[in-house]
Amino acid sequence: MTEDAHAHTSYSDGAGLPRMVDAAADAGLDAIGFTDHCGVDGARREERLLWNRNFDRTYERRREALAVAADRAPELTVYDGVEMDYAPAAATAIESFLEAAGFDYAIGSVHYVDGRHAFPFESFADEDDAARDAFVDAYYDAVVSLAESDLFDVLGHVDLIEDHPALRGRTTDAHRRRVAAACAETGTVPEINAGRTGDRGEFDDLHPASPFVETFRDHGVRFVVGTDAHDPGDFTGRLDRLDRFLATTGIEPLPLSAVVDESSSA
Ligand SMILES: [Zn+2]
Ligand SMILES: [Zn+2]
Repeated sequence: MTEDAHAHTSYSDGAGLPRMVDAAADAGLDAIGFTDHCGVDGARREERLLWNRNFDRTYERRREALAVAADRAPELTVYDGVEMDYAPAAATAIESFLEAAGFDYAIGSVHYVDGRHAFPFESFADEDDAARDAFVDAYYDAVVSLAESDLFDVLGHVDLIEDHPALRGRTTDAHRRRVAAACAETGTVPEINAGRTGDRGEFDDLHPASPFVETFRDHGVRFVVGTDAHDPGDFTGRLDRLDRFLATTGIEPLPLSAVVDESSSA
């Protein structure tokens, strides 16, 4: 059983939906969840408009498109998911949106901290260690809040800041334990995310990096796996990487069907 919990389409910043469906089937997947980026945070509404990333307004159209695309790959189970931008201040708006939209499941991701994006790479060049550590602390505060909110089925790329050269290595045991305890408490499932592996990212590691995986396991937390594919060419190499990881660690991912069931009963 090979499943991918995290992929994008042209309903956010990925390639055309039929191409992504075909590529997922060609890569030998049994199931895939399309989880386009979505934000309901008023602060970035204009930015989303400019870049035509208004999945909060287009998810019903993508739902129709997924139904049409089902004929292309009859063997592939396709889930109607979402990757929500999380910020503590937006929790109430996110809750109402998710309730109304009724996705199969929702990934929650922290991409912004107090309105500041964790990227681009140049962004922390002029800041000292104390400022960088403070950003990382605030990032993990938001991740803990995400898990404690119990709004999401899946926690996306938990140590995303490790991808940033100026922030890498600043994740502490205390951060890991707080996040793992919050996930254990609410049943929020972290993903093993392969989005930064291969030639595209200089990070070339999975999220989370290995000490974090062990902390989750110590807390009895299970995982799902995701390629975070944005392009048809992303699937094969990232799936190989995830397969190798699962074989080495002996981790058995939680089936997506279980995540979806849990979502509808929540
Ligand atoms: Zn993301
Ligand atoms: Zn993503």
